[in-house]
Amino acid sequence: MSSPRYLTKSRFKLALECETKLFYTRKPEYPDKKVDDSFMEALAEGGFQVGELAKLYHPGGVMVKERDYERSLKITGDLLKQDNAIIYEAAFRHKNLFIRTDVIVKTGNAIDLIEVKAKSFGGRDSMDLTKNNGQLDKSWSPYIYDVAFQKYALTNAYPGFTVNAYLMLANKNSKTTVDGLNQKFRVTRDRSGNAKITVSGDISKDGLGSDILVKVNIDDLLGMIYEGTDGAGLIGKPFYEQVRYWAECYKKDTRLQSRVGKKCRDCEFYCTAGELAKGKRDGRRECWKREAGFTDSDFHKPSVLDIWSYNFKDDLIREGKYFMSDITEEDIGQGAPKGSGMTRSDRQRIQVQKAVSNDNTMLLLADELKDEMMTWKYPLHFIDFETAAVAIPFYKYMHPYEVAAFQFSHHAVDKKGNIQHRGEYINVERGKFPNFEFVRALKEQLEQDQGTIFRFATHENTILNIIYRQLLENTSIRIEDKEELLYFIMSITRSTRNQSHQWEGTRNMVDLCDLVKRFYYDPYTHGANSIKTVLPAVLNRSKYLQEKYSKPVYGTKSIPSLNFKDHTWIRQENGEVVNPYKQLPPLFEGINEERLKDFVTDPDLAEGGAAMMAYARMQFSEMSDEERMKVKEGLLRYCELDTFAMVLIWEFWNEEV
Ligand code: SF4
Repeated sequence: MSSPRYLTKSRFKLALECETKLFYTRKPEYPDKKVDDSFMEALAEGGFQVGELAKLYHPGGVMVKERDYERSLKITGDLLKQDNAIIYEAAFRHKNLFIRTDVIVKTGNAIDLIEVKAKSFGGRDSMDLTKNNGQLDKSWSPYIYDVAFQKYALTNAYPGFTVNAYLMLANKNSKTTVDGLNQKFRVTRDRSGNAKITVSGDISKDGLGSDILVKVNIDDLLGMIYEGTDGAGLIGKPFYEQVRYWAECYKKDTRLQSRVGKKCRDCEFYCTAGELAKGKRDGRRECWKREAGFTDSDFHKPSVLDIWSYNFKDDLIREGKYFMSDITEEDIGQGAPKGSGMTRSDRQRIQVQKAVSNDNTMLLLADELKDEMMTWKYPLHFIDFETAAVAIPFYKYMHPYEVAAFQFSHHAVDKKGNIQHRGEYINVERGKFPNFEFVRALKEQLEQDQGTIFRFATHENTILNIIYRQLLENTSIRIEDKEELLYFIMSITRSTRNQSHQWEGTRNMVDLCDLVKRFYYDPYTHGANSIKTVLPAVLNRSKYLQEKYSKPVYGTKSIPSLNFKDHTWIRQENGEVVNPYKQLPPLFEGINEERLKDFVTDPDLAEGGAAMMAYARMQFSEMSDEERMKVKEGLLRYCELDTFAMVLIWEFWNEEV
């Protein structure tokens, strides 16, 4: 017998993103590129652990383990006959809607419906989930809609009960009073490969310490959604009508064709060439053919979806401008300059012009870049950090999502152009708070001279600002050199907006990514600026680098390295240099590195998603010593490549200007 086609929580969420996805989902003929790996999800930010902790905060409950729809409904129904009950994973059905709720607390005729999310919350009540005008905050709307769906299904399944709805969130305002809380929730794989949380150690109230999750009543916000006054704009019809409509369409497998737009760029329903050859169907292509009248050849034309950092893609698409060749000067406008070099609009214009005229030459503003380079002091230092932030803190006095800075790499280049992998730091010891030792090691390496320091993007500046605050707030560890560390951080950073006072250090790090954006555009990158995209562009462009690094010179006396020996970086395939990042063995077997960042919700951490998950894996999952060693070696090599990539960009520019 085939399984009933219910509109569940996850399908409702999918429909909120785009209702056409309801038609593609779980059909083998439409490949779905969203990685569906609960183990990875559990490692990413600790969501599974938060779910387990929430249960411990509601002790004495019964878990509905049964996965069969009918039997789980029956078990839930029986439990609800008791006067009072706490149920985890209770099942409810109303017509064609089916939900499993995280935690239910039944007291007489009242039910508390508690949805647990490993999302950080620094407010006090439901008003802190809204904007200044009282409407739903965009970043919270999908979570609140999820609960609205659950409350609607539950209230209709059991109309005799009063239902109070809550979001249970990681409370940024609280600090744990116990050490090693995270490690009480180990992530393991069960026999079918799914994530399982094994709870161990002292899990009594004292053992768990102060509450780090907060329960926020959101009935007022759900009322706004039901009345259609929430302002989120996530659905086109009144809530009840929309839910019933989606449920009916899903049941009948009716295709709902949503308008195409910028959301399609990240759509998971697409095929690789290999999948197409095997007769699979490409959901994304089908949508664009139906909605925008695309032919097969149109998919090869430069699309407006690929314009770098352009905020009006949906407007263009609404006007029927699908291709870069449709764009006018007016569409791009004039951006405000930030220092010398290209403005954002200049860069967009150049990208569009080059794409439309099939011009593959790069643009390097050599004179302006040279002026900039003249201000740099040797030796040059290139640094990169790897960090992790998970919901349940590792250490006492830390709040949820406290950042752990566990690794850095450092390359230096002297005036004569000698390159050296000068130093590194890594601490993946279980339960050890690395940040103060991390910044001490960084200081030791950088304070030897007054050379210019480079980072790529904002991450390093943000992390040092966080450690600055941690040093100020720390009362648990005696730090003899606290003042020196604070002074050092201030000297090489710019303060972030949330600091109590503002500064710009005398040796404030230079952002190499910002220089890429202002002075260099290579059509090879298609407008992307991550180090993983800029590096292969530079290597493919520079004959000098190809010549130099096609020999095993890296990790020798002339270019010392801490993790590579006699290494050749240039390998060509089909006339192109293979991206060095793709030459290293993956940190996670069988998982595409690019996709790992999909598990991380914080955009500032997403780029280092693989390293963050490797760290989490070493902290709270079962691993043999041999495996730990292998992952640690992998982390060291990746981080070294991150700083070497920056050196290569510098070398390329140095040759060109
Ligand atoms: S391609 Fe666009 S319209 Fe089609 S399912 Fe994906 S997001 Fe929706």
